[in-house]
Amino acid sequence: MSTTRHTKVLIIGSGPAGYTAAVYASRAMLNPILVQGIQPGGQLTITTEVENWPGDAMVQGPDLMVRMEAHAKEVGTEIIGDHINSIDLSKRPFTALGDSGTTYTADAVVLATGAQAKWLGLPSEEKFKGFGVSACATCDGFFYRNKEVVVIGGGNTAVEEALFLTNFASKVTLIHRRDSLRAEKILQDRLFKNPKVAILWDHSVDAVLGDENPLGVTGVQARHATTGESTTVPCDGFFVAIGHAPASELVKDQLETHMGGYVVTKPDSTATSIPGVFAAGDLTDHIYRQAVTSAGMGCMAALEAEKFLAEQEETESTALSAAE
Ligand code: FAD
Ligand code: NAP
Repeated sequence: MSTTRHTKVLIIGSGPAGYTAAVYASRAMLNPILVQGIQPGGQLTITTEVENWPGDAMVQGPDLMVRMEAHAKEVGTEIIGDHINSIDLSKRPFTALGDSGTTYTADAVVLATGAQAKWLGLPSEEKFKGFGVSACATCDGFFYRNKEVVVIGGGNTAVEEALFLTNFASKVTLIHRRDSLRAEKILQDRLFKNPKVAILWDHSVDAVLGDENPLGVTGVQARHATTGESTTVPCDGFFVAIGHAPASELVKDQLETHMGGYVVTKPDSTATSIPGVFAAGDLTDHIYRQAVTSAGMGCMAALEAEKFLAEQEETESTALSAAE
């Protein structure tokens, strides 16, 4: 049977942005509902050690997200295992439809649906994810001190990741499918000048190679774009940096987006182009894409939602008094 649930604040997404928004909105007595989506806990549930979450020198990503969920529950958030498959932001209350058949209506919405790294789609890549294959050098680079790594991609992210990895690795090989990078020239200059960096132009990656026991990467199988010649590049870590895709499908036709789908927010704010709709975390962030920045934006979104709702109430009560 389909049901309708109304809430002052509907939070969509259960990564660091969503759970932080939930903690703040609950403590502001807004009784939020948080819908978790198909990846409860978000991207950090697919990694192992997180070493840059302040307060924890090392915490397992999935454990951190279990703690965030418990915190949000503890302060009163209603957490629902559902996935929003459509949302109507054209009028208030906003209306969202869940896969479960539940309709959620809300006076304010916090969108925290995150972003997903694009992957090559190779079975061997899937097999070694978290065991030598990563999409986040900032997170995992530290594990490759004095080791050899390969980065694939030719954009700003790939070049920044490759440069960042030179702080740890003994050698960084950047593999790119063409003979020129799309990254900014200034980044390219830095890359070309770095003695730890080698570039394999005009190559794609066909397979990640590795050991079974313990599971770990030993190299990648690269192939020349025109000759088809196959080359093995030995490495301990393989970083995929071929772009990130924000999870903005739900709202891309209703909200302003940029940089390939990231939701645009006002400067120093999480407010979107629709009053009462706030966006936080990787969904809006094409630069930092970190747990702590996402959590920070989740906090901002809840505080801004609270302010928005208070202003709405004030306007409504003024209108009511004037009518009397
Ligand atoms: P996400 O974590 O992406 O969560 C998005 C949430 O939205 C999910 O719960 C999903 O189920 C939900 N959702 C999506 N669509 C819908 C829908 N239609 N309906 C309902 N729910 C929906 N950052 C660090 O700071 N340190 C690290 O060590 C680190 N390691 C990482 C390792 C890996 C392998 C990856 C991929 C990322 C790593 N990151 C790390 C980055 C970090 O995970 C992200 O910056 C952070 O998770 C973004 O948080 P978020 O809340 O914006 O979104
Ligand atoms: P991007 O600019 O889309 O670049 C993706 C790169 O990956 C491209 O070089 C692309 O090759 C390559 N690629 C894509 N699919 C591939 C595949 N299947 N196999 C092999 N290679 C593949 O993505 P990004 O680097 O993540 O940057 C995203 C946006 O964020 C950009 O607008 C960027 O400017 C911005 N950004 C800015 C900064 C900064 O300002 N410092 C830092 C990071 C990101 P081709 O070149 O052949 O298409």
